[in-house]
Amino acid sequence: MAAPRKTDTIAAVATPPGTGGIGIIRISGPRALSILCHLFRSRQGQVKTSFQSHKLYYGKLVRHTGRVLDEVLAVYMRAPATYTREDVVELHSHGSWLVLQTVLEEVFRAGARPAEPGEFTKRAFLAGRIDLTQAEAVIDLLAARTTGGVDLAVEQMQGRLKEELEPVQKALARILAVVEVAIDFPEDDVEILESRELCAQLESEVLDRLDRLLLLADQGRVVREGVQVVIAGRPNVGKSSLLNALLREERALVTDIPGTTRDTIEELISLHGIPVHLVDTAGIHEQEDLVESLGIERARDKLDQADLVLFLIDARAGATKQDIELYELVREKEHLVLLNKMDLVAEEELDTLAAGFATDRIVPVSARTGRNIDTLQEAIYRVITADMAMTERPACAPNTRHRTILEKARAACLRLREALKHQAPADLVAVEIQESLDILGDIVGLTTPDDVLDIIFSEFCIGK
Ligand code: GDP
Repeated sequence: MAAPRKTDTIAAVATPPGTGGIGIIRISGPRALSILCHLFRSRQGQVKTSFQSHKLYYGKLVRHTGRVLDEVLAVYMRAPATYTREDVVELHSHGSWLVLQTVLEEVFRAGARPAEPGEFTKRAFLAGRIDLTQAEAVIDLLAARTTGGVDLAVEQMQGRLKEELEPVQKALARILAVVEVAIDFPEDDVEILESRELCAQLESEVLDRLDRLLLLADQGRVVREGVQVVIAGRPNVGKSSLLNALLREERALVTDIPGTTRDTIEELISLHGIPVHLVDTAGIHEQEDLVESLGIERARDKLDQADLVLFLIDARAGATKQDIELYELVREKEHLVLLNKMDLVAEEELDTLAAGFATDRIVPVSARTGRNIDTLQEAIYRVITADMAMTERPACAPNTRHRTILEKARAACLRLREALKHQAPADLVAVEIQESLDILGDIVGLTTPDDVLDIIFSEFCIGK
């Protein structure tokens, strides 16, 4: 890749802040080895001037004053078989933040400068070791909160999205080649036939594929970011108990006094690898108590943001007037009606109760005994994934940035299709194709402007 190579040497602590058994300092750039030689002493206190690549050495680090700073393991990794494709040194010291900061100061004193957030990964990208989608996957991997998110990030780190894009780019390049022949030989009278053929190719090999990638982006958003599922219902119907049943651990306060969930409580569960943010709302009902009404305000906000509402009623009490009023708030939203406390009622009563609701998405459950909680989980999963034809977890999932680019590329391809249909001059058509190709190039970072790169890499933590 043609980007200018940086020649300075960067360093940062690569392990998280706080105290740990081991802390790692990472150094990358042409001076990495000389910095290592400068600071490292063998077990006997000797200066070492040569290190084999990718081999761990035991020794000490010394300060510029000559005092021993810490016992360490050090590794020198010679370019280009490294993360950044530059010379890299890692110093494994004790994981005290103070020790790490002191080591880092010595490393700076010996010729490195502080790395910016994501700068190691940015160098890997600029060196052409990874494309932009792979760099972004590193961010996703660090942020992933479920195994589904980890799987997606790892797939993308291995270049999955790039692979999916290649046939699209190749198809566009093939169409461009044909159109260029038409520019070079305008007298050939084959255009009408050819443009129809080209349109068909554009649809099957480009537009259909772009549509699929856009669908995968929707699915990917769900797997990466998850969904908000809000538990609503009047006090004492069993919302906290349900939250607990879903979490299978007692975190929310469960009590017999109505209205004790004063505020909303949020927890995260994973349903087949999809992060589900469960929100337990305070009972949404009008009352004087100020604290309670603050809780209710928040509950209403949460309802508005919900991807899915679990509307609970107490099956033994039946649908009360208050339940029916509350149901008005959720009936237009994506929701499931849960007849809770099914352990206290007979099956027939449940059927009668269910008939009173204008939805077939009704699940009888018992938060107390755990009955049907697995059925409920499946029902939640089905609702979350229903609109996206997500039969299985997507193996590739474009992120929001990719999605915006894919939409732009799609719009450009639609213009291109119109141009082809209307027998637009070949040189104009060629411009449209080139434009589509350029737009797609942004996804992997071929044509991405520096400021966009800066924004992407600034999402990283320092040391990555
Ligand atoms: P919330 O105010 O809606 O959050 O309701 P809670 O979860 O605090 O539950 C209120 C009461 O109903 C508690 O005594 C729970 O033990 C009880 N409860 C909740 N779910 C069930 C259930 O499925 N069966 C039975 N028998 N009791 C339940």
